[in-house]
Amino acid sequence: MAELEFSNLSKSFDGLPALQDINAQIASGEFVALLGPSGCGKTTLLRLTAGFEQPTSGQINLGGNTVAGPNSFVPPEEREIGIVFQSYALWPHKSVFGNVAYPLEVRRVPRAEREARVKEALALTGLSAFGDRMPSQLSGGQRQRVALARCLVFDPRAVLLDEPLANLDLALRASMHEVFSMFHRRTQATMLYVTHDQSEALALADRVAVMEAGKIRQFAAPEVLYREPVDCFVAGFVGDGAVVSAEITGRSENKNLILKVLGQEVQSRSATAEPSHVSIRPEAITLSSDAPLRAKVISCTYLGGRFRLTLDVAGETLIAFSEHRASIGESVGVTLHDLWAFRDPDA
Ligand code: ADP
Ligand code: MG
Repeated sequence: MAELEFSNLSKSFDGLPALQDINAQIASGEFVALLGPSGCGKTTLLRLTAGFEQPTSGQINLGGNTVAGPNSFVPPEEREIGIVFQSYALWPHKSVFGNVAYPLEVRRVPRAEREARVKEALALTGLSAFGDRMPSQLSGGQRQRVALARCLVFDPRAVLLDEPLANLDLALRASMHEVFSMFHRRTQATMLYVTHDQSEALALADRVAVMEAGKIRQFAAPEVLYREPVDCFVAGFVGDGAVVSAEITGRSENKNLILKVLGQEVQSRSATAEPSHVSIRPEAITLSSDAPLRAKVISCTYLGGRFRLTLDVAGETLIAFSEHRASIGESVGVTLHDLWAFRDPDA
């Protein structure tokens, strides 16, 4: 049974839809990322889940109970949900220990048990030495650990995180990924993690819901989003590469489609019989000097171990990897293989 379930969930503000007909099921212990550009409705979905907003229509179930629906509304404090914001939202006048103890005080947990659980939560987030510090004496990464410890301490049904790393610099973000992964492994909590950063979503989540304009476009494991996007938006938003139009010219014996892509016939996999576009990932491109499809090298960056090339092929920009350095402006031959094709709803 799903731990968290959205059924036909919609939310409008002043008649303007922020979420439209969201349907999704999240299993107990799953780490799910909500990924999409600014304004697509990610925070609204979290706020509905937490109980800070009421849906315009539809229903939310949490742990088998309806917490929001046409005839019911469970207030936030009764949902047993932990929340971590971008802004940390720590009590400035309470110590680290006091901040983490707060949810237990509210729940009237006896002092001895409270102290033991706070110590455990601080140890788990690497904060054992910081219990007496005030939030103002901590770095951004440490503050976000306090916010995590404060969630962890009351053993919530689900933890909601709204762009928790947006205020941290790049190096710290990478090390915080480890902290979140470890937190998830240790607590087995159901996690809903909002981000507009695709690399963060792909790195952390078991499954990613890609959102655009108030809708979920695709909800799948990171490798499925990357390999088998359902439309141009997902293909363009997740992962490197290009999206180009394709024309069906036939079918091969193993029922794969033969598509004309950039003037070349290429075998393609697809979930639909009438695809309109293909996603061309770097892995789908082989470079050779004599291939008839010609590309012009726009840029060449050394990644360590290999080079990343930006190529212009008939006005389309493709990304390819190469063992060898290429010069800007050089002409190289491109072979495409095993493309993924889909039908774009707007095509
Ligand atoms: P995201 O978190 O993906 O950036 P939001 O959920 O914050 O997006 O916002 C989705 C849409 O709903 C936006 O168009 C935003 O302006 C609108 N919106 C969000 N909250 C409110 C509110 N309290 N009042 C009016 N409009 C809102
Ligand atoms: Mg937001």
